[in-house]
Amino acid sequence: MNVLVINAGSSSLKFQLLDTNTREVFAKGNCERIGIEGSFVGYTVNGEKKQLDVDMPDHKTAVQHVFEILKAVDKPIEGIGHRLVQGGWYFPESKVVTDETLGWAREVAPLAPLHNYAEADVIEICRDMFPELGNVIVPDTAFHYNMPERAWRYALPRDVVDKYHVRKYGAHGTSHRYIWRTVDEFTNHETHKLVSCHLGSGASLCAIEDGHCMDTTMGLTPLDGLIMGTRCGTVDPATVFYLNRVGGYSIDDIDTMMNKKSGLLAVSGVSSDSRDVRDGAANGDANCQMALDMFNYRASQLIAEMAASMEGMDTMAFTAGIGENSAEIRAAIVDRLGWLGVKIDPELNDVRSDDPRVISTPDSSVKVLVVPTNEELMIALDVEALLG
Ligand code: ADP
Repeated sequence: MNVLVINAGSSSLKFQLLDTNTREVFAKGNCERIGIEGSFVGYTVNGEKKQLDVDMPDHKTAVQHVFEILKAVDKPIEGIGHRLVQGGWYFPESKVVTDETLGWAREVAPLAPLHNYAEADVIEICRDMFPELGNVIVPDTAFHYNMPERAWRYALPRDVVDKYHVRKYGAHGTSHRYIWRTVDEFTNHETHKLVSCHLGSGASLCAIEDGHCMDTTMGLTPLDGLIMGTRCGTVDPATVFYLNRVGGYSIDDIDTMMNKKSGLLAVSGVSSDSRDVRDGAANGDANCQMALDMFNYRASQLIAEMAASMEGMDTMAFTAGIGENSAEIRAAIVDRLGWLGVKIDPELNDVRSDDPRVISTPDSSVKVLVVPTNEELMIALDVEALLG
């Protein structure tokens, strides 16, 4: 089935047209600076890289450009899959777009206002422009929806939790689900307790037991858990009250500080990109070194926490920009888990490949893998399962 996958942000719209059978990607690209001066579409069609400098005052224009671009691909589009960052309390799995499911996407939008409103708008635009095509909503939170209550419930008053739907929702669920599927296949169904480590600009871990999410490190929003490119991860929630009352920061200031000005960027004082931080550390910058140390320290701590939520772990898988590419960070994280008997082979860790691979030693207590993620394919497979 030829599926168009759309991942809309407040000022961007990523797209990919792929075949779920052959897994061939016919076209992919990104509409950038939507609603901002200097908008353009960078894309690759039939293997050729191109850029289209066009006015995109809104998402509707962006969608029109995408469909115009896709005319160069001589393949009919048979369905559209939309990533939804926050599915809230409505989406235990992906769902076909209807008035009702679209309404749900909007109802839960206050939990992820920067993403959900734009995503819901784009879903509606696609449905209205191409009523003959089926559209499917694939929420990033769905995979975590049925984690045990002891994991999702916050120890806050029940009436508050119920009224405001305050709980752990997690994120990166589509990636963690893809990692489970791939690891399960790759290890011949011998994996039962997997810790999936999605380490990119945003980063989260997921404890997966026999395909079911048992816990994850992101919370009500993606701010919780690991240290990330610009997010602080877990801090004492009272930090917010203190900065507000004593520091004079508004709630919006603190929101921006914790989501956009913290993490690797804040500690290194150099960059949110782990490669710049690595280069800084290599040149003797102590703040860069501390940023890396903290990132690895927290990752190893939380991997052990995820393992504890399953009372064990037989496999770990690294994925996303850092997890797939940084042998140094993988080694530093696993090194801190030596007390659990986890060992990686430095030579295997240095191998570069686009395929899933083992990097642990034969005597390691836990199999350690590197598995390139593919959220677009996972979304497309959901579209096929629901519409195909
Ligand atoms: P997101 O999709 O969340 O924006 P990515 O999964 O693309 O993020 O990950 C971005 C991170 O991956 C950056 O910190 C970047 O430094 C890191 N990264 C990407 N490529 C490499 C590489 N070749 N070596 C080391 N780190 C890399």
